Amino acid sequence: MGTALCRRCKKLFNQFSSKYVLCPKCEEELNSKYKQVKEYLWKNRTASLTQVAEDCDVTVAQLKRWVKEEKLEFSQESGVTFQCESCGKEIRVGRYCSACKKEVSKQVNEELNKINALLQGESAGHKIGFHTKN
Ligand SMILES: [Zn+2]
Ligand SMILES: [Zn+2]
Repeated sequence: MGTALCRRCKKLFNQFSSKYVLCPKCEEELNSKYKQVKEYLWKNRTASLTQVAEDCDVTVAQLKRWVKEEKLEFSQESGVTFQCESCGKEIRVGRYCSACKKEVSKQVNEELNKINALLQGESAGHKIGFHTKN
């Protein structure tokens, strides 16, 4: 555990894990913002990105971040689209279009398979020196 600078309010906070980039207070505020935005989108299916940002008092960058994290999805009616980070195709949620996503997950799977094979090799090695129970 160490201290880190909150990405939002720039204050120091106790960081329990490196996945927390916000202080607990900002984390909580952001969570309630997120709920507010989700609800807003539910009721205003044609709202544009800037409209949502203005009405919910969040930054466009934050909205984009949620979309990338697949937490938020704009409706088809809104006409809001983003670009696939790999091929630049129009997408509505996440970071990649479905084709690139498949490609990325294939690569990830291959990596995982390699790791699994390694791990299995290791545990097989352990089995040779078998344990005696008494
Ligand atoms: Zn903060
Ligand atoms: Zn793509």
